[in-house]
Amino acid sequence: MSHGAWRVADGWGVRGSLRVRAGLLGGFVAVMVAAGAIGLGSDGAAAELGTTAVEDLLPVAALLLGVRLYRPRRPAPWRLFAAGQACVAVGDLIYDYDSYVRGVEPGLPSAADGWYLAMYPLIATGMLAVVRRRVPGRDLAALLDALLITIALGLLTWAFLIERYLGTADLSPLAQLTSAGYPLMDVLLLAVLSRLLFDRGPRPPSFYLLAGGMLPLLLSDIVFAAGRTTSTFEPGGIVDSGWVVYYACLGAAALHPSMARLNEPVPGGAPRLRGIRFGVLTSVPALSTTLVIAFTDVLDDPAGPPVVIATSVLLWAMALGRANGLLRQLRRTTALNEDLHRRETDERFQRLIENSSDVITVVDTDLTVRYQTPSVRRVLGYEPDDLLGTNLIALIHPDDLPVATGSITAGGTRRLPASVVCRLLCRDGSYIHAETVASTVPTASPQYVLTTRDVTARRALEEQLRHQAFHDSLTGLANRALFVDRVRHALDRRSLADSPLAVLFLDLDNFRTVNDSLGHDAGDALLIAVAERLRLCLRSSDTPARLGGDEFAVLLEDLTDRAEAATVAARILAALRSPFPLAEQEITGWASVGVALVDLDAIPRPEDLLRDAEAAMFVAKSQGRGGHVVFTPTMHAAMVRRLALTAELRTSLVEGQFAVHYQPILSLSDGRITGVETLARWPHPTRGMIGPDEFIPLAEESGLIVPLGRWVLEQGCTEGARWHAAGLGPLTIGVNVSLRQIEDPAFTGEVAAILGASGLPPHLLTLEITESFLAEESDSVLERLRSLKRLGVRLALDDFGTGYSSLSRLRGFPIDILKIPKPFVDGIPHGADQSALARTITDLARTLRMDVVAEGIEHWEQWAELHRMACHYGQGYYFAKPMPAGEIDKLLRCGWRAGPLELAWPAQARPA
Ligand code: C2E
Ligand code: CA
Ligand code: CA
Repeated sequence: MSHGAWRVADGWGVRGSLRVRAGLLGGFVAVMVAAGAIGLGSDGAAAELGTTAVEDLLPVAALLLGVRLYRPRRPAPWRLFAAGQACVAVGDLIYDYDSYVRGVEPGLPSAADGWYLAMYPLIATGMLAVVRRRVPGRDLAALLDALLITIALGLLTWAFLIERYLGTADLSPLAQLTSAGYPLMDVLLLAVLSRLLFDRGPRPPSFYLLAGGMLPLLLSDIVFAAGRTTSTFEPGGIVDSGWVVYYACLGAAALHPSMARLNEPVPGGAPRLRGIRFGVLTSVPALSTTLVIAFTDVLDDPAGPPVVIATSVLLWAMALGRANGLLRQLRRTTALNEDLHRRETDERFQRLIENSSDVITVVDTDLTVRYQTPSVRRVLGYEPDDLLGTNLIALIHPDDLPVATGSITAGGTRRLPASVVCRLLCRDGSYIHAETVASTVPTASPQYVLTTRDVTARRALEEQLRHQAFHDSLTGLANRALFVDRVRHALDRRSLADSPLAVLFLDLDNFRTVNDSLGHDAGDALLIAVAERLRLCLRSSDTPARLGGDEFAVLLEDLTDRAEAATVAARILAALRSPFPLAEQEITGWASVGVALVDLDAIPRPEDLLRDAEAAMFVAKSQGRGGHVVFTPTMHAAMVRRLALTAELRTSLVEGQFAVHYQPILSLSDGRITGVETLARWPHPTRGMIGPDEFIPLAEESGLIVPLGRWVLEQGCTEGARWHAAGLGPLTIGVNVSLRQIEDPAFTGEVAAILGASGLPPHLLTLEITESFLAEESDSVLERLRSLKRLGVRLALDDFGTGYSSLSRLRGFPIDILKIPKPFVDGIPHGADQSALARTITDLARTLRMDVVAEGIEHWEQWAELHRMACHYGQGYYFAKPMPAGEIDKLLRCGWRAGPLELAWPAQARPA
């Protein structure tokens, strides 16, 4: 086949060319099988020669074609195989020609024998070349193993075959040598084959075809050799088939696509000694000597024993060498593994130490640094090398030195890790809080291992938590717990040195108003500002605290005298009076202060001191805003009274002990009564008449203001309806309503029900609410007010101008009447400022189309002035004090009207 044709075949593409290659291999095998079968069955010279030619030469072609097709990188072995096969073909053709054509029995030796014997070295060389390529470098173990097998089988061959030929008397020396040559060559082949089998190269199908083909070859050779010794060999028999199978395998190995991979080198170390190989290596030598001794009589021969013994010794020595090699390899591998493992562990440990967030330091017993991890750079800022050889003492804060060194050396001597927290000097001069655990290395010269970590953040957190537990989060002042503790300490200390000590109790008067009208943010801002002013007023040795809400306390220690406490209280009040700029408004911090002083001989409990100061504060509050009062034991009574009244409120309400008084409201233009304001009274069975200024705050605190207010509303509406029905005039009934009532969702319904039940026309009812209703957040309250308005009632804004609501919000509220508070009216005859306030309110009311009622008119001049301001209505002691409904009846029935003089009172109607 020409070279060009193969290029065409290659050009078919991968699939086409694969099919051609498979076809080639299949065809080759088929032809070989057919030729073998024909060769077995035929007898004729032509057939014998023909089949022999096909059987012998086709593999040669296959070998050369394989090289061409698959282009192995080293084609030399295949060419050697082809050359060997060609030798066989020549030998066979000579043999067959002599036997069948010339009809002569081939002699021993014949010309064919030369060609035959030439095949072996060629094949063996080819195989060796394969082995050499497959496993680059020396594989001593494989070589030894191959030698071991070869020598063992060589002994067998020698004993069973060679020794016989050499001893056969009727053969010429050349014939003897020729006969012995085959087994010798077989041994050679076997040696190379076992070398191939023991290597760790690739094992593609081609490998198995090549190695497997050797087996029938060797078997046929042995049978042939044995037959020749006994002259029983007949050519063309079954023995021939063994050879043909070998040829076929050889050719197939070359035609199989995997042939190119056969002698590709494989990287890697020595192969493991597998079970089969180990079995073969141990059994073959033992078996061969046993067989030789048992089944031959070589030992009778003079040359026998030395050969057998020498071989056995050699085999034994080789096995020993092999075992030794294995042992050494094992030891080397183990050592390598151990080394690798140790290196890994060391490295891992090193990395662990170096990357540890903890600072690990090894110091001598005198604290000289001997080893330092790099983490010190991050924690303290030093380079590890800078610290080596220096003494750790230089880094420890002088105050912490005794405890730190003590713990470290204790940790050393007790052989137990000891932990200490101390301050360590950083490179930048700052200190960190560090926790150091010291343990000792028990060596000849002991050293300490110190594991240090930065606990500054933890410390800060602990500090913060501690602070939180004892401080008010809003103002940062001490809380009640810490304050009581400080007072206790101060009292304890005082028992040693007799210096006066005082507790101030401070309560803001207007906090609720600020909170309600400006919102909680403004309230908080006010508290913070008050705390700040408090601090500024005090010495560092004094302790200010926030007890909760708008209550503050101050502990004053080491006072020069008792009067100093009152001085401080006055100073604080003065400081609070200068306005606070809050939420774009200026707010004056009105406060009441109670002062409790510790008597020289008494040792009170801190709680008692606080309670006394609080009682004094209530007294101060009752005396008007912005004052301070020093506690006296009688104030206990006031305090106790407060508590008692709160308790009695409920029963009094249930038992109907309350009363309502009515204060007339007049038209300032003609002095006629146009309405009344209902004012609650508590005629207490044992304590006498109690005013609303005292019990209304208690009722609001306890929530009882809701039922109390409802009751007052019922009374007012009932009386109003009665006056109305009696034709005593259309009289407006003003009823004070507290925020707590409005916030009650049932309130509107109740008002409607009471109006319905009493029969009072709704437009005659005026609900008086305070300015806190205008607060930012009270949109729900606004809705409540609107629903009240829908009932037809009128709404009055009480004490207008004392709160802090923005006047612009007023427009959005359904207010009908503004009430000018008494303080503004008070100033009217005296100063222009207060007059101006009253005037502003009347002007505003006119703009907003609201009515104005002036409260607390006590003088004729006030009336006259308010009248000039076009304030239409007024109430006050000048006209009439609040009085029972019956008194109002009298006034109305006699048609009383106020005049500029008290003489205006009709004698019969003058109040008692
Ligand atoms: P208010 O609503 O501002 O009532 C007017 C207060 O001024 C009344 O005090 C009245 O007696 C007093 N007053 C009127 N004219 C004069 C005067 O010429 N000179 C002086 N010095 N005082 C005058 P009262 O009755 O002691 O009530 C005090 C406060 O108690 C009321 O102030 C009101 O806020 C509250 N109050 C009274 N009754 C009730 C009630 O039933 N419900 C609610 N929520 N609060 C009430
Ligand atoms: Ca009122
Ligand atoms: Ca008022």
